[in-house]
Amino acid sequence: MPFKSPFPDLDIPKVNLLHYLFPDNAAASETPIWIDSKDTSHHLTPKALLQWVKRLAIGLDRIGSKTGEVVMIYTPNHIFVPVAYLGIVGSKRIFSGANPAYTLSEMVHQIQNTQAQYILAHPTFAKTAVAAARKAGLPDGRVLLFSDVPNPSIEGLKDWRAFLGSPEEAAQYDFPRMTPEESVKTTATVNYSSGTTGLPKGVEVSHHNLIANLDQTIYMRYLKKPYKAHNRPPERWVGFLPLYHAYGQLYTIAMAQKLQVPVYIMKAFQYEEFLRIIQDHKVTHLQTAPPILIMLSKRPETSKYDLSSVTDVLCGAAPLSKELQNSVSSQLNCEIVQGWGMTEVTCGAIHVPGGTVDDSGSVGCLDPNTECMLVDDDGKEVPDGQSGEMYVRGPQVCLGYWRNPHATKESLDSEGWLKTGDVAVVKDDWFWIVDRKKELIKVNALQVAPAELEAVLLEHDSIADAAVVGIILDDDEWPRAYVHLKDEAKGKLTEAEIHAFMKEKVAKHKQLVGGISFVDEVPKLASGKIMRKVIKEWSKRDAAAM
Ligand code: AMP
Repeated sequence: MPFKSPFPDLDIPKVNLLHYLFPDNAAASETPIWIDSKDTSHHLTPKALLQWVKRLAIGLDRIGSKTGEVVMIYTPNHIFVPVAYLGIVGSKRIFSGANPAYTLSEMVHQIQNTQAQYILAHPTFAKTAVAAARKAGLPDGRVLLFSDVPNPSIEGLKDWRAFLGSPEEAAQYDFPRMTPEESVKTTATVNYSSGTTGLPKGVEVSHHNLIANLDQTIYMRYLKKPYKAHNRPPERWVGFLPLYHAYGQLYTIAMAQKLQVPVYIMKAFQYEEFLRIIQDHKVTHLQTAPPILIMLSKRPETSKYDLSSVTDVLCGAAPLSKELQNSVSSQLNCEIVQGWGMTEVTCGAIHVPGGTVDDSGSVGCLDPNTECMLVDDDGKEVPDGQSGEMYVRGPQVCLGYWRNPHATKESLDSEGWLKTGDVAVVKDDWFWIVDRKKELIKVNALQVAPAELEAVLLEHDSIADAAVVGIILDDDEWPRAYVHLKDEAKGKLTEAEIHAFMKEKVAKHKQLVGGISFVDEVPKLASGKIMRKVIKEWSKRDAAAM
């Protein structure tokens, strides 16, 4: 029998996300919510943001962008990213964020894969954005400069502000109303994930998915607290999670508005600056991933700052040991709770209820309206008490992979169960993640798909075959390649040359930091599939020898 959430079902609205976040236009607050961490006078209140959002929606209509089309952003975090996200989504277009560290070829891939029709690019990336758009067949006019200040034209590109509707027009604008069915079916965002296998794919998340995940996450956050979301003590957050990722989007954009929490947005993560922001602005809550807890625990700068304002830390996106969780919890004298999620479940599906003291390393209990089955390699439910791959079902489970019915069918069955590739055990409604069965590697909590790196390596003229796996070194995971060279390149092509080649092709977090090993053959099944279990064993052997 599937596990069901131990909590009562929530009645989740089925409307346009913008109508859920701004139920009463006129009542949008004038208290700053999105604040530039470097210059706090540079901020947006919900009232100001709403006007910008509407102006953008009108501007997109005006330049001929159609509903249902993808608009991409390619920028570091800044206070206007929430404007782009909400303007694109609210006007029934589709938001897709590119990692600002992407190389030209990665950008080309995402433009082609999403079939994006417009790109909002930060001026620092204008050159790459134009080159990528041209390669993908988009005219230069489809790339608009996008930052938090007005920009003079660069590379012949116009600033996004040139196309916006006027404040007067915005005052008359309303977002398209949605029927419940439209809310469930209308795609709002396409973020990238490799799922359980293969190349990164666009994950289609609907308006209802987002609303469901907000309601579920907010319910879990305050469940065991002496207060509830509507009468909680004031909170202040720091927005360093990337806004091209589901985790940043859910908290820094949508939840900050829903809960009216001021969030100090960092353009780039820098550890000491992060500590200073916490101290100076008395930040109360942190949404983190394990690398941040490692820094808090190990970096000497930590002790130079007063972090006593922090009462709650959420940690997700990658495995966290209970030892590290408990040690940082006593060091900061605050609650640290885990949550489990993936891009395919909008953001999260399992959370430790806020206010619970957990020192066991559990990722928590199923969110309301959520079910989970633990299954074996044949997809059969495992007996009670045994570990198995999680299949998850709930209103936050995505619609599928963007324009990829084959991958959708492989991951999402007709009854709504999503294959997660993560292995868990359950005891009395509490979940622990014990293994990862899928190919995915997580570097600094960011996804790296082995299949993508293998495809890039095979583009090299001297490489006959390649396999990439994650190698664990000092509790960190890194991509490591096993490379079979063509005969004529043996003894000639060096590791350094392969590293230089990869640097040109893929972003920093995808580099082969775990090393390169030359092999005579990449072991494969008769079907041509790489025998990943064998390669994983090689990587364990190599890690032990390092
Ligand atoms: P992403 O789609 O980038 O959010 O990555 C999702 C994947 O991150 C999951 O499928 C897990 O493998 C991993 N992950 C997320 N949260 C946790 C967690 N709390 N513990 C262990 N792994 C996690």
